[in-house]
Amino acid sequence: MTSDPNCLFCRIVKREIPASIVHEDETVLAFRDIAPKAPTHLLVVPKRHLPKLSEAKDSDAPLLGTVLGTLSRIAAKEGLTEYRVVVNNGASAGQSVFHVHFHLMAGRAFAWPPG
Ligand code: 5GP
Ligand code: ZN
Repeated sequence: MTSDPNCLFCRIVKREIPASIVHEDETVLAFRDIAPKAPTHLLVVPKRHLPKLSEAKDSDAPLLGTVLGTLSRIAAKEGLTEYRVVVNNGASAGQSVFHVHFHLMAGRAFAWPPG
């Protein structure tokens, strides 16, 4: 599996850095954001290192589909029916960790458009 030794989320996947993990399977890891922006704020990531969504290839479509499907099941398991899912792609869009991740946020009202 592709992994980057300098990547924070790869290191969480490898348990080199602790995180509050809520779900793990062969393909996906989900853990609580260290600085939550909502009462529930999870990060759902493919275990395989992929720096950003715009670098995904057609062959990554099944992986990304699996991550999103798993996110939906995690949300259901957490009892969430309404939530926001965010992917920041690139620094100016707010991406600070360059390992694709889906923010799953819930538990408060969200404004639109996001800032
Ligand atoms: P981004 O800004 O790249 O879309 O999202 C990165 C997220 O990772 C941020 O919401 C930030 O709070 C979170 N984060 C940064 N460092 C850590 C960490 O060490 N552990 C966890 N669990 N989350 C982190
Ligand atoms: Zn990574």
